[in-house]
Amino acid sequence: MKMRMNNIFVPTLRSTPGEAEIASHKLLLRAGFIRRSSAGVYTYLPLAYRVLEKIKNIVRDEMNKAGGQEVMLPIIQPAELWMETGRWHVYGDEMFRLKDRHGRDFCLGPTHEEIITDLVRGEVNSYRQLPILLYQIQNKYRDERRPRFGLMRGREFIMKDLYSFDVNEEALDVSYQKMYQAYTNIFTRCGLNFRPVEADSGAIGGNVTHEFMVLAESGEATIVYCDECNYAANVEIAPCKPSIKAEIKEDLREKVKVHTPDVKTINEVAEFLEVKPEKCIKTLFYKADEELIVVLIRGDRTINEIKVQKVHPCYNLELASEEEIKNITGALPGSVGPIGLKNIKIYADLEIEHIINGVCGANEDDYHYINVNATDYQVEGYYDLRLIEMDDKCPKCNGQLQSARGIEVGQVFKLGTKYSESLKAKFLDVNGKEKPIHMGCYGIGVSRTLAAAVEQHNDENGIIWPKAIAPYLVTVIPVNNKDSQQMEYAEKIYTELQAKGIEVILDDRNERAGVKFKDADLIGFPIRITVGKKAIEEGIVEYKLRKESTVEEISMAEAIKKVVEFSQS
Ligand code: ATP
Ligand code: MG
Repeated sequence: MKMRMNNIFVPTLRSTPGEAEIASHKLLLRAGFIRRSSAGVYTYLPLAYRVLEKIKNIVRDEMNKAGGQEVMLPIIQPAELWMETGRWHVYGDEMFRLKDRHGRDFCLGPTHEEIITDLVRGEVNSYRQLPILLYQIQNKYRDERRPRFGLMRGREFIMKDLYSFDVNEEALDVSYQKMYQAYTNIFTRCGLNFRPVEADSGAIGGNVTHEFMVLAESGEATIVYCDECNYAANVEIAPCKPSIKAEIKEDLREKVKVHTPDVKTINEVAEFLEVKPEKCIKTLFYKADEELIVVLIRGDRTINEIKVQKVHPCYNLELASEEEIKNITGALPGSVGPIGLKNIKIYADLEIEHIINGVCGANEDDYHYINVNATDYQVEGYYDLRLIEMDDKCPKCNGQLQSARGIEVGQVFKLGTKYSESLKAKFLDVNGKEKPIHMGCYGIGVSRTLAAAVEQHNDENGIIWPKAIAPYLVTVIPVNNKDSQQMEYAEKIYTELQAKGIEVILDDRNERAGVKFKDADLIGFPIRITVGKKAIEEGIVEYKLRKESTVEEISMAEAIKKVVEFSQS
C-alpha cells in the first residue's frame, strides 16, 4: 500500500489549542496524533497508533524474552474480588464503577492484581507449575482527580502489566531482576533518557519498588540522585538525617508567651521575634481519613506527606480546614503550636527534638511562645517526616546530591504475599506443605511513554522522534508537485526505500514546499529527503536529519544508502 500524505489522516493544526499546557500535549494535538474525546480520554489517530504499536512491540519482545506470556484479562471486573482484598473501598473515587442489569457491582479495571490472582489461585496448586509470568497490554481506567497534560495523566490509558508468581522470596527476586532488566532494555530501545529510582509502594503495597523515570523538566516527579554512588530515589521516599549545627550549646530557658500581632507565616514570626526560621516549630494539622493529627516540622523545611502516611497509616491525608483547627486549638493556623494540645496525636520530625529555645504558636490568636523546648509538649515520637533538600547528603554514601524532574513511565513492585494471602492463592511446596505464592507486579504506561518521548524530544518546530518509535522513518518531499519529473523522481526514491523495508511516506500534497517542510518538522520524521530542481538537472537530492540543522546534497543512491545505514545504526 502506498503511504502518501494525501491519503493518510493527519489533521495538523496551525495554532495550538488552548487546553494544552506542556510541549508534548500541544505537539501531539498540533501534529495530528491525538484528539480529546472527554477529560482524560483520547482518540489515537493513525500516526499515534503507529507509534503505540512500535512501543508495544518493543515491550512485547522484551517481556517474551524475559519469560512473560501474553494474555488478555477482562476490563470489567466484579466487585466481590475487590472486596476480598479490601480494595473496593480503598480505591475510592478513582475507580470507575458500574452496575449490570441485575444490580451487581462491577468496576472498569484500574489495575489487575485481583483478577489475575483469582485466575492463578484456581489453576495453580503445585510448585511444579511455578514460576508463571503473565502480561497484557490493555486499556486501564482511573478516574483521576486531575486528568491533565494529554496522554500523561489520562482517565483511560494503555498499560502493559505483568504479574509474576513464584515459590518464595528468592525466586521472586529473580523475576524482579528480570523485569528490572527488561524495563531498562525497553526504555533504552525506545531512545529515552531515563533513570530507575527507588520509590514509594503507595496503595498497591509491598515494599521493594522502583520507578522508571524519563527525565524531563515538565515531569511531575522530583528525583534525587548521587553521582558519587549509584543512589537514585523519588524524593517521596528519600530518607533524611537531621542536620544539627555544631553551634555552642545554649542553656535551656523557661518558655514565655509573647504578643505577636499580625504575624502569621513562619517568616513573619521569625522576623518579628528575630530568630531564624529553623528555630520555629511549624505545626501542621492534617485530616487522616476521619482523624485529626498534628505534624511538627522545622520552619525552614517542607513536609513529606508520604512519610507522614508511613508513620500514621491512612488512605487519605489532607490539610485540615481553618475551622477544624480553630475547634481544636481555639486559634487560627498562624498561631498554633503543640503546647497544651490534648487528645490528638502529635508526630514530630527528627529535627524538632534538637530545637533549643525555639518558637511556636500559643494556641491563642496573635500569641507565640519563645524558649520552647522538647520537654514543653508531648509527642508520639520523632520520625523522618520532611522532604529531602539539596544540602542534605546522599543517604547511601554521604556524597553531594543532585536533583532532576521525571515522568514515571514504569514501575516494578515486589508484592510478596500481600495478594496471595488475602485471595488465598496457595500451592504445595516440594514437601507437600501449603505456602502462599510470592507475587510481583510490573507496569508500563504505554500511552504515557509516547507522550514522554515527545516531552523529551522536541524543539520549537515540533517533535523529534527517536527512530525506533517514529511513525515513519523518512518523508520524501517533492518541492514542486506540478513538475512531473520531480514527482517521478520522488516516487522512485519512495518506491526504492519501501522495497528495502524502510517506513517511508511520500508528501504528494498540492501544498507549497514551505508548508510541507513545516509539517515534516512538526510531525517529526527522523529523516527528510527533498527532491527539487537539482534532482532533475544533476541527480542531487537534499538529505536532512530532523535532529540536526545541516542539509546534505547527495545523489539519490547515496541518500538511499544513508537511510538504510541510519535505520540499522
Ligand atoms: P501516578 O503516580 O503517575 O499516578 P501510578 O504510580 O498510580 O502513577 P502505576 O499503578 O504504577 O501508576 O501504573 C503503572 C504505569 O502506568 C505508571 O508507571 C504510568 O506510566 C502509567 N500510568 C499510571 N496512571 C496513568 C494515567 N492516569 N495516565 C497514563 N498513564 C498512567
Ligand atoms: Mg506507579
